[in-house]
Amino acid sequence: MSGKFILIVGPMYSGKTSELISFIEIYTLGKKKIKVFKPIIDTRYASEYVVSHTGTKVEAIPIKESKEMYNYLDYDEKAVFVDEVQFFDEGLKDVINDLLKKGINVYCSGLDLTYKNNPFQTTILLSAYADEIIKKKAVCHECGEYNGTISFKLVGNGDEIDVGGFEKYIAVCRDCYEKLNAEK
Ligand SMILES: [Zn+2]
Repeated sequence: MSGKFILIVGPMYSGKTSELISFIEIYTLGKKKIKVFKPIIDTRYASEYVVSHTGTKVEAIPIKESKEMYNYLDYDEKAVFVDEVQFFDEGLKDVINDLLKKGINVYCSGLDLTYKNNPFQTTILLSAYADEIIKKKAVCHECGEYNGTISFKLVGNGDEIDVGGFEKYIAVCRDCYEKLNAEK
């Protein structure tokens, strides 16, 4: 039987990684075999862990290209987890489809929009294959409403891929995003 594919998306500080970790716990508490992957580009926190903003951490295999996952898979995993999918190449969809065919469940989390309000290609591509998409929101940093959907970049260069945390990004709602961009 095919595995299930759950995709968790949203802006920064929306609890995507915490949500991913809560799914990981379902498997680890049940003593089920899993693998967790993360992009090597994300060096905000300890590189061999997936860490939520609240500090919960789970061991993860850092990789650069999605096909490197094949080097680590035993195919008897009950589930495979991938954090920060927006940083991966589009070939991730092929690896995921291979896993699903083998009956392995896949859970991914990632940003859906860049700070320029453009879709992250790999995340959007994966959404076409997901059985379930969990769309998370953040509390808007400006107005305090629970409708933050976009990560707004405070400082740094103009690169759309530019890893950072609280010092570089805030999560805002669409209205506040427009206001902040008008003020820039
Ligand atoms: Zn707002």
